[in-house]
Amino acid sequence: MKVIVVGSGFGGLAAAALLAEKGVEVQVFEKNEMPGGRASVHTDKGYTFDMGPSWYLMPDIFETFFGRFGKTPEDFFELKQLDPSYRIYFGADRSVDIRKDIEENYRLFDSFEEDGAEKLKRYLESAKDKYELAINELLYHDYEKLSDMFNRRLMKEGRKLNVLQSMEKFVNKFFDSQEARRVVEYSIGFLGGAPNNTPSFYHMMSHIDITMGVFYPEGGMRKVADSIYRLSQDLGADYRFNEPVREILFEGEKAVGVRTDNGTYDADLVIVNADYAHSEVDLVPEERRSYSEKYWKKRVLAPSAMVAYVGVNKKFDAFDHHTLFLDDDWEDGFDQLFDPKKAAWPDSPSYYINVPSRTDTTAAPEGCDTLFILIPLAPGIEDTEQRREEFFEKILDDVAVKIGEDIRPYIETKRIFALEDFRERYNALRGTSLGLAHTLRQTAVWRPSHQSKKSSNLYYTGGYTHPGIGVPMVLIASTIVVDRIIEEYGL
Ligand SMILES: Cc1cc2nc3c(=O)[nH]c(=O)nc-3n(C[C@H](O)[C@H](O)[C@H](O)COP(=O)(O)OP(=O)(O)OC[C@H]3O[C@@H](n4cnc5c(N)ncnc54)[C@H](O)[C@@H]3O)c2cc1C
Repeated sequence: MKVIVVGSGFGGLAAAALLAEKGVEVQVFEKNEMPGGRASVHTDKGYTFDMGPSWYLMPDIFETFFGRFGKTPEDFFELKQLDPSYRIYFGADRSVDIRKDIEENYRLFDSFEEDGAEKLKRYLESAKDKYELAINELLYHDYEKLSDMFNRRLMKEGRKLNVLQSMEKFVNKFFDSQEARRVVEYSIGFLGGAPNNTPSFYHMMSHIDITMGVFYPEGGMRKVADSIYRLSQDLGADYRFNEPVREILFEGEKAVGVRTDNGTYDADLVIVNADYAHSEVDLVPEERRSYSEKYWKKRVLAPSAMVAYVGVNKKFDAFDHHTLFLDDDWEDGFDQLFDPKKAAWPDSPSYYINVPSRTDTTAAPEGCDTLFILIPLAPGIEDTEQRREEFFEKILDDVAVKIGEDIRPYIETKRIFALEDFRERYNALRGTSLGLAHTLRQTAVWRPSHQSKKSSNLYYTGGYTHPGIGVPMVLIASTIVVDRIIEEYGL
């Protein structure tokens, strides 16, 4: 059996490895020059930047994935638990650290509000409960039709999920202080959502980042992508870089291969990891599309971003490995990100700075820091050189106020990556950085289907599909797809 995989993001790499392990002949076509997709790498003047993911969360999912090959993550890379897990700046005058030791976090919450520790304890118990339900009943299951969601445990527990309540309402019932609310709400950003458009069961995110902790794979997230790439190659998968797929070929309803600029290639089955909307609209003829162009126009997209990759010849201790700067008007900022009528470059941006050189000496030259500055932006807004530069200056002014020092005199390298780059480099719909937001109507059965509705041997994996956004979720998506193929074809 021969399978063609379109795209070598985490979704494509994982599918290639899992299939190659079953003895399937796998050929992967990738538009860009390297594997990893959103987890691409930028290097300049001795600074190395992971261009996309920087948080290694849910280590259990990576263990399960590598376990399929009789391996552990540590067979490929060293894993360190970060402490502090991350730092949060509230406005201009206060920062707090979320620590590896949960007792310290309880004390912190007591400093936020009366009974803060007790409230956090109850909140985290509930988050753990939902996480376990998700792992056991939701994430690894495929949902093609509504009835797939009605298994007995899910029906029983489903009521507890309280699906119609928003994170915002749920959190506001638990906590009174702005600080406590923000610490438990910021992680919704990982799902590309806002507290008012994300269902409350996603408060399980706090079990993930506060209880389970935040990890760093030595050598960065690129090391994780590279490990799966090498693993799949060792198992026989063949990669073609700089070779975008231009068309998926069909005979009747069957996908029979792909066309690139170099010719046509046959396959018994095609798995698409490239952005779903691009693949359907640009690669598949109209009669073989599962969704219309109107469907894609109506989706709630996760934000895009402007990311600045900045190398500075000084170490700035005010930044931890992961530092979040939440603006005083944090909640108001969500309108400019999610309401298409108000979409604009943010007036009061909240942003995130990742400094891998805090943990990893190979990320920057000695005495220097590698800064990854990410500001969420609404997808589809105008993106020009001038806008980017003005916005970058605005962010650096804000950083100077918050950390009490201007980083500008120390900049040795700078690259800005924003909407147009996401569109151009990854074929991302309206320049989204993450794909589809996790609103209720875009969860489980309501995410785009893994199997094409119009062609039985055309499959889709990656962040647009169930279970969704983030590296661990994408590994699960490919596991679901490959398990279906294994079952269907008796591999
Ligand atoms: C800035 C940023 C920060 C993030 N931070 C985190 C984080 O800290 N932790 C976390 O877990 N997740 C994070 N994420 C999310 C995570 O990176 C993604 O959810 C995940 O990597 C998506 O993987 P994927 O395989 O679905 O898609 P992609 O990585 O986009 O892979 C799709 C691949 O398809 C290729 N392609 C597109 N069109 C074609 C074509 N026509 N022919 C051939 N190939 C094609 C693309 O070039 C790409 O390589 C972040 C994402 C971004 C952008």
